[in-house]
Amino acid sequence: MKALVKAKAEKGLWLQDVAVPEIAPDEVLIKIERTAICGTDMHIYRWDEWAQKTVPLGLVVGHEYGGTVAAIGSTVRRVKVGDRVTGEGHVVGTRSRNARAGKFHLDPDTKGIGVNLPGAFAQYLALPEFNVIPLKEDFPLEIASIMDPLGNAVHTALAFDLVGEDVLITGAGPIGIMAAAVAEKSGARRVVLTDINKWRLDFAKKLTSRTRMINTMEEDLRGVMTEIGMREGFDVGLEMSGAEPAFNQMLDVMLMGGNIAMLGIPSKPFPVDFGKLVGKALTLKGIYGRQMYETWYKMLALLDSGLDMSPMITHHFAARDFQEAFDLMETGKSGKVILDWTQI
Ligand code: NAD
Ligand code: ZN
Repeated sequence: MKALVKAKAEKGLWLQDVAVPEIAPDEVLIKIERTAICGTDMHIYRWDEWAQKTVPLGLVVGHEYGGTVAAIGSTVRRVKVGDRVTGEGHVVGTRSRNARAGKFHLDPDTKGIGVNLPGAFAQYLALPEFNVIPLKEDFPLEIASIMDPLGNAVHTALAFDLVGEDVLITGAGPIGIMAAAVAEKSGARRVVLTDINKWRLDFAKKLTSRTRMINTMEEDLRGVMTEIGMREGFDVGLEMSGAEPAFNQMLDVMLMGGNIAMLGIPSKPFPVDFGKLVGKALTLKGIYGRQMYETWYKMLALLDSGLDMSPMITHHFAARDFQEAFDLMETGKSGKVILDWTQI
């Protein structure tokens, strides 16, 4: 089969012929039809420090996908050949305390497909049955391929009660924008989304209806809070940039006793005024991945009840034209970019 491989220790990915994965009795072989490119894939593509430390050379990359079951192992019962599926990309163990307690998303032995294990930028992917998410027959394959980041957004947004609350989201990347849409739908009162990239804030308007966008390079956050009638601070903060100024600004504008869910991954350690965190009696919760499998349940329910993620997808490429897609991703002027693996 064809697959995108991190074949060399330099910038790029290489389309190569590799063997179709063999499945174990408890695994499912998925015929990949659509994939989406993630920020994580861009780290691997650029071969930055994190990628060099984490990703083995020769790995098939990619972890956001939709496809069809092509074969099942002998013990698989939940899906059959021909079913439309996507999957949870974190493959967990069964030995740790958390895994034994059913808290699979907190298993320290987690491995990521397309990061530590063979990935989905390929014609076929082998995945444990446990990780397979069955979808309705007519579920759009492209939406299937963006459920992984939508899951990050839903997991973070639903970490704290949003009903009637004022919510600040820092970072209008794909996940921050999705989180704003989820916050609106989940009954938040005011939703404010910040970034320093004008294109992204403009784009975010396509997925939201009442979120106030702020370019913090041009507009003062406190001034906007006054303008929209806020007298105190934000009840809930969703940190989705990993940027020091964004996090410290969030600390400044939180209400006493407020809650922060932090998904953004800082590229390096940064100073934080913990006096503010303590003085304001804030709760800070780190968010990793998606909750298995409650986040998937909520995501499917939100989509079922009208959450429309289709405007998130801005570009489509045949998988063979992957280079154009990665070049576009580097400009930062795209939503989710889809590769079609039926065109290889
Ligand atoms: P992204 O890089 O596309 O988006 C981050 C956004 O933050 C960008 O639009 C950038 O312009 C913006 N930004 C930079 N400085 C800012 C500032 N000072 N104020 C406000 N915004 C600022 O990332 P994404 O794919 O949307 O993911 C969001 C974050 O979540 C990233 O840090 C990513 O690494 C992280 N992530 C974490 C997990 C997890 O399991 N914890 C999973 C997926 C992604
Ligand atoms: Zn991803």
